[in-house]
Amino acid sequence: MPAQDLTKTDKKHQIHSLHHPSDVAEQLVITGGKGVTVQDADGHSYLDGLSSLWNVNIGYGRKELADAAATQMRSLSYYSGYAGTTTIPSIRLAERLMGLAPGMAAVFFASGGAEANEAALKTARFYWKALGKTGKLKVIARQYAYHGATLQTMSATGIPAYWKMFEPRIPGFVHIQTCYPYRFQGARPGETVGQAAARELEEAILREGPETVAALIGEPIHGAGGVIYPTEDYWPLVRAVCDKYDVLLLADEIVTGFGRTGRWFGLEHWGVTPDICSFAKGVTSGYLPLGGILMTQKVRNAIESVAPADRWMHGYTNSGQPACCAVALENIRILESEGLLENSARMGAALWQGLKEAFAGHPHVGDIRGGKGLLAALEFVQEKATRESFAQADKVGQRIKTELKELGILTRSRAAEGPHPAAGDQILFAPPLCITESEVEQIVDSLRRAVRAVLGS
Ligand code: PLP
Repeated sequence: MPAQDLTKTDKKHQIHSLHHPSDVAEQLVITGGKGVTVQDADGHSYLDGLSSLWNVNIGYGRKELADAAATQMRSLSYYSGYAGTTTIPSIRLAERLMGLAPGMAAVFFASGGAEANEAALKTARFYWKALGKTGKLKVIARQYAYHGATLQTMSATGIPAYWKMFEPRIPGFVHIQTCYPYRFQGARPGETVGQAAARELEEAILREGPETVAALIGEPIHGAGGVIYPTEDYWPLVRAVCDKYDVLLLADEIVTGFGRTGRWFGLEHWGVTPDICSFAKGVTSGYLPLGGILMTQKVRNAIESVAPADRWMHGYTNSGQPACCAVALENIRILESEGLLENSARMGAALWQGLKEAFAGHPHVGDIRGGKGLLAALEFVQEKATRESFAQADKVGQRIKTELKELGILTRSRAAEGPHPAAGDQILFAPPLCITESEVEQIVDSLRRAVRAVLGS
């Protein structure tokens, strides 16, 4: 069937994530992939600059994962992981994850990121109830955070566009500024942005009352909200503030996990151990859906110390789904045996360096973010001196993204909008971890041409 007919049929029957009918005009029908490249139904090839949705970490077309799923499905397609039964792939994967995540004492499996964060948020409530501190219910989240699209994870998300048509949000989520070095407002003289952002966290806890605050949730490096890198001092300071006021630290490692930043988990860069760590996406590189939470012994103890009638009454039909776990095990084997974490670190450094060389002197590129694995972004501004964004109607980010597509690179842009302080248009990159140096150069060269086509220089 020609692509046009496929999109027509799609439009007739399917509602997509973030759906609006106007998007279908630009829809690609993706039919295949190998390495960092995908093909569409018209026969065009594209370098996937965002690993689809930040998740295809090992790249496309790995038959080993298909074989792992098929082998498992032939022997046992499914059995429930509710208390009382378990399956071999989930046992093996749980053991494997304990070896990758220092400081973690147990894992609970989910099917995706929002389910994982939902489990993390509920577990934070449970934890304090189990300890008798029943008033600790609020969650501090950060502007520009993305934590998922269910009602609770949407409420934790710090991007108002996700709330607008679904409000009211779940009560008890308090948003503070994130550590956004380019846009943070209110740092005092002599303070780093990390110190100021950690101070803002402490002030928020004191304002709300520490006896009401259960947790802070944050992505070690923001993904969808703009690939925002914190200053090096930020996470250790956040950990210290959380410890000072008995607030759990929930790390959303759904983008930053499984090699994306050159380590197994993003917080490793700062030597910080969270109380609960959510993961999804890269754990299976998207070959099958899987997510979950890792937890420390302290959290595990709370779950295991209560009376049966007060049990952690949480679970999903697909927790520990055997084929998904088998695929995750094979994915982790490939990440490790092919040195993809090291490649992510090396190619991420090359990408960041290439972007800096190409755009540091550009009059409309205000911020160039990168440096920890394959997570990078450019932020565009009308004027560098004032950091003023382009008007939303100019659609600068979207136009650059469209030019990139014409040049054979798929990625994602962010429009100039957002909570205060408003960010500029952005182009985001998170290619598969198997990317080569010449493919990194292709991204940078194409971006140079796309930016010239839109901004004239
Ligand atoms: N957390 C982060 C950091 C994400 O980037 C995402 C998805 O993009 C999620 C949570 C939600 O994951 P899912 O879409 O699998 O529910």
